[in-house]
Amino acid sequence: MPKALVALDTDRIKRYIFRSSSLKEIRGASAILDKLNRQLMPELMGGEVVYANGGSGLFVVDSTIANERIEAVQHLYQTTTHGATITGAMVDIPQNREDVQVELMLLRHRLRLHKSFFRDPVISVTHPLFRYCSACGVGYGETETGTDSLCRSCLGKRQEDAYIKKDIARWIGEEDSDPSVLWGRLIRDLTALNYPFAKCNRPEDFNELGNVSSPSGYMGLIYADGNGMGNEIERITKIDEFRRFSEAVDTSIYDAVAETIATYLCPNGSTTLPFDILLLGGDDLVMVTAADQAIKAAMHIVERFGQLTAERLGRPLTLSASVTLSHVNYPIGPLIHLADTGLKFAKREASRRRLGSQAVDSGLINFLVVSSSNHLDFGQYYKEVLQSDDGLETLVRTCRPYTVSGMRRLLNDIDAIRSLPRGKLEQLRSAVFKSRRQGNLDAMMAVLRLRNNQQREALLSLGGDSPTEQVYLPWIREHNRWVTRVLDVVELLDFIH
Ligand SMILES: [Zn+2]
Repeated sequence: MPKALVALDTDRIKRYIFRSSSLKEIRGASAILDKLNRQLMPELMGGEVVYANGGSGLFVVDSTIANERIEAVQHLYQTTTHGATITGAMVDIPQNREDVQVELMLLRHRLRLHKSFFRDPVISVTHPLFRYCSACGVGYGETETGTDSLCRSCLGKRQEDAYIKKDIARWIGEEDSDPSVLWGRLIRDLTALNYPFAKCNRPEDFNELGNVSSPSGYMGLIYADGNGMGNEIERITKIDEFRRFSEAVDTSIYDAVAETIATYLCPNGSTTLPFDILLLGGDDLVMVTAADQAIKAAMHIVERFGQLTAERLGRPLTLSASVTLSHVNYPIGPLIHLADTGLKFAKREASRRRLGSQAVDSGLINFLVVSSSNHLDFGQYYKEVLQSDDGLETLVRTCRPYTVSGMRRLLNDIDAIRSLPRGKLEQLRSAVFKSRRQGNLDAMMAVLRLRNNQQREALLSLGGDSPTEQVYLPWIREHNRWVTRVLDVVELLDFIH
């Protein structure tokens, strides 16, 4: 029987997941997609599973039935989610030949082509009274639950979250957990790492997460994905190699996250877990944490992903992350956009640094504390606020994004300046927004007026390691531009303990 390779890929996953701004619907959406992707898609496709995670899948099936199976999966996605769609493509593969690199390339092109025909599903009007869904505001409200009127899509999401909530309670209590579901796997693996799950619940909403955070009312959003995954995949020639690669990426990101939770995100005297996972699979991660643990958690995930993929593939892959620290009332849609633009910025910087032969020994971490001046788009904030160019010199008021080791050094700097009077830090912060010479004068005056030697050293070390570098404080010369760590330190100060 002639065989075909079939690829499937969910369209605009994040749009479906983050269409509603409430934590319950986001988690429910994520769980629905995960179940469709990891369990139902392989069952329906049949044949040989190469991989099924991260919203995509690759299968080897009989050629004759490939198209009808793709349609069956598409139908299942539409009828289950009422809002998420999936695109599929197939290519025949030669018998008795292992190298399928050309076929894989053709398959990717076909998938991309089919995606380009993608249209948003039309939401059918089924209710005579036009009332918008109170959760997403996009669909029509059809079902009343309490004070809410929900569309079919949001209702499904909310129900799924409620089912999982019950499962989690059982799994934490007595029963063996179901490892085919993310939370079943997490409870099993974290319990083995002595994670104190007893009596704990996931946060009901972002406010509850803010209550177990410091500063109270804030949270961290970690948004990460693998670097150069497209290039990695293009080099793959065999189906087995594809399976190994995909398995290594998917398990490494999961293991890195589980270890991070066990290390940095234990409940601290509360029954609310100080984190939640909004999306995890393939090379993608979106999670929220207590604000004070977000940076350390992101560092651990980025570092461990490199180490774990090195163990599994013989060479490290890298992951970049953006950490957005915001008030819990900040709407999730714009927050995700901000995180996304922060991540794109980190990735652009990684390639710029590589081109400039700077050492980039790990994935990069970008961060942002949401304020009124930066609340739209990180790239725009960078251009308008962080960077200035007076024709002679370029000043860059940050060192973001950081490697893991750079971030560690930044955390040490934060510890060292913690005892400084806030007024002193404010002087330094405003020096960064003056001309380079004036800012330098102001910063030096601030240092000279400090009596405490240790504090003086701590401030000076923000300018570099040696006295010849430190005379330019708050600036550090970097090739043809000036950068500074001062703003980064001040911005994070309240979020690092
Ligand atoms: Zn809705």
